[in-house]
Amino acid sequence: MGKSYVPEPFRIKMVETIKMLSREEREEKIAKAKYNLFNLNSEDVYIDLLTDSGTNAMSQEQWAGIMRGDEAYAGGASYLKLIKTAQEIFDYNFIQLVHQGRAAEKVLFSVLLEKGKYTISNMHFDTTRAHVELAGARAIDCVVEEALDSSKKAPFKGNMDINKLEKYINQYGADKIALIIMTITNNSAGGQPVSIQNIKETSEICKKYNIKLCIDAARYAENAYFIKQRELGYQNKSIQEIIKEIFSYADMFTMSAKKDAIVNMGGLIGIKNDDQLFQQVKNATISYEGFITYGGLSGRDIEALAIGLKEGLDENYLKYRIGQMEYLAGLLDDAGIKYQSPVGGHGVFVDAKSMFPHIPYYEFPAQALAVELYKEAGIRTCDIGSYMLGNDPDTGKQLKADFEFTRLAIPRRVYTQAHLDKIAETLISIKERADKVKGYKITWEPPILRHFQASLTPIK
Ligand SMILES: *Cc1c(COP(=O)(O)O)cnc(C)c1O
Repeated sequence: MGKSYVPEPFRIKMVETIKMLSREEREEKIAKAKYNLFNLNSEDVYIDLLTDSGTNAMSQEQWAGIMRGDEAYAGGASYLKLIKTAQEIFDYNFIQLVHQGRAAEKVLFSVLLEKGKYTISNMHFDTTRAHVELAGARAIDCVVEEALDSSKKAPFKGNMDINKLEKYINQYGADKIALIIMTITNNSAGGQPVSIQNIKETSEICKKYNIKLCIDAARYAENAYFIKQRELGYQNKSIQEIIKEIFSYADMFTMSAKKDAIVNMGGLIGIKNDDQLFQQVKNATISYEGFITYGGLSGRDIEALAIGLKEGLDENYLKYRIGQMEYLAGLLDDAGIKYQSPVGGHGVFVDAKSMFPHIPYYEFPAQALAVELYKEAGIRTCDIGSYMLGNDPDTGKQLKADFEFTRLAIPRRVYTQAHLDKIAETLISIKERADKVKGYKITWEPPILRHFQASLTPIK
């Protein structure tokens, strides 16, 4: 039997009305959206699980902070508060503010990467891969084997495959590897955590070959919570202590603050102690994002971010947060629906390949499940599979993803237990008619990050 629900460690002070359209209306809306969930209007969605990015509910403290935001162009009080908070959390000398995670990637990679270079990661997130390629370099994924088997239970399925990492370094040449990127949690592998042991071993390899280690830190707090739960020796450490240790092994980080910092917009770059690199980052920030003390954000957003960074580390909150994933996953276990298990930190990644074995990767089974969830109950999700992966940048051929996941990303502090019950119920009814669901083909696509904009049509 499934897991019991961890009650919310908060009460609700403000509400936002949502409603479900009729089935006819939903079918009409999704056809008009060219079967791309990103084209739907949010008012036509009942439960929005498209992403956990920037969809968080802020606290009363954050909303109060919004009123205090200092809108000065240079040297604002909110900026100074944010930098102090971030320096304390990560123990890094230099923090640069930017407007979101991909801005951090654009700024940092424009300085560090060039044509002929490679990055190796436990898994590049889609925007990370895009910015590696836009900087002229190429991205290599190096996740542990067990991540590729969704039904195989392992505590840290987000880990880097250390043996493979060293093999790749020798194969491509250490001087060609510009950066090693550790994504915590490993979003594309299903929000799977990375162990401290693995971060440490990766850092030792980096030192051996003189390669810099960068943490892609979008969900660093959720990752720290998993370490506390699962890694021997960390049960009695605080989330803050675990975070300090994680970041001590790296040289720098990029962060989308739209995840674990529980805000709607924001991003950070952290640099441990390389002041020359920090100067280059500041120069690039001014060109791409705005002056270094606002980095593409308004003062009120910066103030909310400074507060949210701390709230995201609260252990009661993290217990409830991960508890929501475990509760929903438990309902799917009871129904025999496969997902990346054990469940990760920010959503349930349903194994669409296993639900629709008759749909090949090039007809996008995970996109097909996403469309069915919308048609069935107005639930918006997204494909994390071959549809998202896209084409080989050199040959233009459709790539085959390691997984075909439909991601049910859970926004922070937004949905209740009854919403999770509705989601499970909907998946169960789709499973009952799974053999009748058909795949999709693309009728138009842009050259990069195509899943946001492409048009699709059902295969007859
Ligand atoms: C969201 C995310 C990014 C990109 O951040 P944005 O704020 O969406 O630009 C990068 N890496 C990971 C792992 C992410 O989850």
